[in-house]
Amino acid sequence: MRPEALNPLFAEVATLEGVGPKLMRPLERLGLTRIKDLAYHLPERFVTRRALADLSAAREGEQVIVPLSAIEHRAPRPGSRAPYRVLMQDAAGTVCALAWFGKAAHAARKLVPVGERRWVAGRLDRYGDMLQIVHPDHIAAESTAGMARLCEPVYRLSEGLTQPRMADFVGQALGRLPELPEWIEPGQLARADWPSWREALQRAHRGEDKAARDRLAYDELLANALALLLVRAEGRRRRGQALVGDGRLRGRLQLPFGLTGAQARAIGEIADDMAQEAPMLRLLQGDVGAGKTVVALHAMLIAVEAGRQAALLAPTEILARQHHETLRRLLAPVGVEVALLTGRAKGREREGLLMGLIDGSIPLVVGTHAIFQDAVSYRDLALVVIDEQHRFGVAQRLALAAKGRRAPHTLAMTATPIPRSLTLAHYGEMDVSRLDELPPGRQPIDTRVVPIGRLDEVVAALARHLESGQQAYWVCPMVREAEGAQAAEDIAAAEARFAMLKARFGAAAVLVHGQLRPEVKDAAMERFASGAARLLVATTVIEVGVDVPAATLMVIEQAERFGLAQLHQLRGRVGRGAEKSVCLLLRGEELSETAKRRLALMRETQDGFRIAEEDLQLRGGGELLGTRQSGEAGFRLADLEQTQRLLPIAHGDARLLMERDGGLTSPRGEAARLLLYLFERDWGVQLLRGG
Ligand code: ADP
Ligand code: MG
Repeated sequence: MRPEALNPLFAEVATLEGVGPKLMRPLERLGLTRIKDLAYHLPERFVTRRALADLSAAREGEQVIVPLSAIEHRAPRPGSRAPYRVLMQDAAGTVCALAWFGKAAHAARKLVPVGERRWVAGRLDRYGDMLQIVHPDHIAAESTAGMARLCEPVYRLSEGLTQPRMADFVGQALGRLPELPEWIEPGQLARADWPSWREALQRAHRGEDKAARDRLAYDELLANALALLLVRAEGRRRRGQALVGDGRLRGRLQLPFGLTGAQARAIGEIADDMAQEAPMLRLLQGDVGAGKTVVALHAMLIAVEAGRQAALLAPTEILARQHHETLRRLLAPVGVEVALLTGRAKGREREGLLMGLIDGSIPLVVGTHAIFQDAVSYRDLALVVIDEQHRFGVAQRLALAAKGRRAPHTLAMTATPIPRSLTLAHYGEMDVSRLDELPPGRQPIDTRVVPIGRLDEVVAALARHLESGQQAYWVCPMVREAEGAQAAEDIAAAEARFAMLKARFGAAAVLVHGQLRPEVKDAAMERFASGAARLLVATTVIEVGVDVPAATLMVIEQAERFGLAQLHQLRGRVGRGAEKSVCLLLRGEELSETAKRRLALMRETQDGFRIAEEDLQLRGGGELLGTRQSGEAGFRLADLEQTQRLLPIAHGDARLLMERDGGLTSPRGEAARLLLYLFERDWGVQLLRGG
């Protein structure tokens, strides 16, 4: 039950004045459904305006407020795309046009009657030889004092909303903030000179304010740290089962290679954990191709040797199928069956699978999130392996853990190279094993950066590559969080590229992207994996785990749009066989310095952890991608710099709080519970005894 003190914050935005059904939609698209969401919708930046008496001192590109009188309205010809323009002049007779495009023009007709004077706020540009302000931010008859602040927040909007509207809604939300008890340790507050929670939110909307922003970011990091510690404490509290295998199944494995030192070490650590009654909570971190699957297989066989069940959870259907295939192959000489359960299993097949899991006749299952749905129960699930952990939230993991009669051991695996300084934020609740050694005999991947202008040469090289009997990937961008117009555009671009390549290579080329029907997608993947198709054109659905050793060329279009971690994972799809592999990063003609350096880094090194560390340095300045990276840990407020600076302090404080008050029942503990709700980590609260 959510504490009452938070009720005003969790009220729907529809309770605000001026928010009707029409404006709900754009607010929802921004994820702003409650009062607290609006309060936390912090400005992206602020504009600072200069108040001018006339245009004589005006500079182009500057944000100004200036009094102007209307002299003439110029409507565009019907059907023309030209803007509606109103010519204005200042006291000295200098002319400046105001311009409105599209629908905005309707309102403009009445805003500035000819002959009247108005105060206009906006960005001064030049159009031809005339000054111009496109879509002025404010127009008012009164002087600047009453109409517009000189410093004004700029919010992220979505279609249908305007800045003044958003500012109004946010203002109303801020007016409803209750006083909340303090959850930050008093010494920390004093040292950093941070305001209270309520004041911090109000100040953060008013202007650049480092102390306020830091405090809010800290709140978020503290909520995360606390929630992770609660998960960990819960894991320790629930009784698990000590599993010691007798080695009879593992002894029958016939791997075509010896284990690397790192693999053997990780397997040892896992076996030690599983032999304890306290449930294992371990992360296996290893670069693409480091050989995590074999490690997972050993862990699963320990469970089966002990007469229990194990499940492997994969983030996508394609990956689940591949894992199933790989494990089936490796398990053939062992004589252990492995089942596949995905959302697509229907009818009798599904019934059979569910029965087998309940009666225990299926010892091993691989699947997508379908394996932890309510209808699925297990006879004795003792180990859960989660591949590509970052795709799953902690909440989902807990749902799966709840399937065991006693708490199952959990092994999470990830190939996302996370800088050491951020590991705590992502995986603070887990023990970590690192596979820091690649299997021997891997050849370095020859990586080159090529401008898109040389596309013809790239296609010619691809043709030679395919003629020589090898396979290739061609990746088109489809940025994960892209939505709406951008997503449609990306799909269209991928389809257009596919059409072009198909014209050249015929049936040798297949296409895979996220909006294809699953059967179509699988069929294409299978054709490629079997070698029937030689060229796989894809958006980033192939990003994780796909394993086709004969594919030795990868072309990545618009490489500058990808995060480095993503590029690194994509590149890891090649270089898996004995042949030398090549990766071509196609880039746009115009690149920022940072973008150039980032691509150069990809050329220089193949060490995922180094790429992650240096990417962090390169992006220090807060490029767009920075928000994405910290967004992977689920942070909306804390940027990378703040995360690095404040996270250790937040974790220290969370640990202190838990040690002194594990049940969060002291006054500061109670306050901290509120924090978990504010940042939607209520699953943390659910874990509290009696909470
Ligand atoms: P990832 O860590 O990316 O999941 P995989 O488990 O898919 O890596 O392994 C990548 C490839 O390396 C597979 O083809 C696997 O059979 C092979 N491999 C794994 N361990 C070794 C090893 N010790 N020596 C040689 N090849 C190995
Ligand atoms: Mg893998």
